[in-house]
Amino acid sequence: MKQQAEVIKNILKGNRRALAKAITLCESSRADHQKQAQALLAEILPHTGKSVRLGITGTPGVGKSTFIEALGKYLIEQGHRVAVLAVDPSSSLGGGSILGDKTRMEALSKDPAAFIRPSPSSGSLGGVARRTREAMLLCEAAGYDVVLIETVGVGQSEFAVADMVDMFLLMLSPGGGDDLQGIKRGIMELADLVIVNKADGDLKKAAGRAAGDYKAALHLMRPKQDCWTAKVVLASALKEEGLEAVWHHVQEFEKAMKESGSLKELRSDQAGAWMWSEIHDQLMDAFKDSHLDKLHETEKAVKAGLKPPTAAAREMLDIFLSNKTD
Ligand code: GDP
Repeated sequence: MKQQAEVIKNILKGNRRALAKAITLCESSRADHQKQAQALLAEILPHTGKSVRLGITGTPGVGKSTFIEALGKYLIEQGHRVAVLAVDPSSSLGGGSILGDKTRMEALSKDPAAFIRPSPSSGSLGGVARRTREAMLLCEAAGYDVVLIETVGVGQSEFAVADMVDMFLLMLSPGGGDDLQGIKRGIMELADLVIVNKADGDLKKAAGRAAGDYKAALHLMRPKQDCWTAKVVLASALKEEGLEAVWHHVQEFEKAMKESGSLKELRSDQAGAWMWSEIHDQLMDAFKDSHLDKLHETEKAVKAGLKPPTAAAREMLDIFLSNKTD
């Protein structure tokens, strides 16, 4: 207990080592670690919620890490403290996690006002998302007032990230053709701000045209928030251009969301949804860990068409629940 009080004190002081250790504790799947982690999170909860929570997505190569590094430096110059986290469920497949590669965001990672953490490297998307949410809370308690959560623009991870941030940024680049570069419409709909990166050199003209196309596409979509319509900005992460415009929109967004009461509502809905997804995951884990004798046999019968799936599920759940209440 005394040890925990020390850990909390160090996190609140903004000690990066204490923060990193606390995140590692949250990422551990050991039951005793989880218990400690949850106790720690309960203690730090009153110190959370004060950051601007930003999600950013875009296909690999679009310039996310170059941009985050540039934006991070820009914000630190203005006195902010910036944490960068990642959600990348594919990193558990050993495919080189985003942020995992040490050469990415090298300058930013050396800055004491920045904290960079790669994606948790194991587990399902649900598990990775949960740990990233917890890491975000810990970063807030440690005084990071801008938390950026990066994800790759493929799969379902951007939906998970959109569910944990205030504002969602979609990064695109010109020259990807008219097909929105494989970015699905659903992801476009998540965007509060579209950043058309690489608006420099030979690509500058194409970037301008692409920005016009995206504006037109966004115009046809239903706004996510009543108080905000999605914007499109041009940027060059390489030349560190457009950072000011991006940050301006972020601040305008936060202001509009706060003034309308939408930010409070959004965060409270997200916390509620998080609890329900925890209930779902923890129930599934408990069910799978219960090693019901008949489970394998019942699944075989369902697969062979001998038992209806719904009735089989009911039967297994009845056994599971009666074991629990015994
Ligand atoms: P990520 O995979 O989305 O993180 O993309 P990176 O930041 O690693 O960038 C991929 C490549 O695009 C690198 O070679 C960068 O130098 C280049 N790049 C990133 N931003 C820009 C930009 O604004 N303009 C140009 N011309 N190239 C850029």
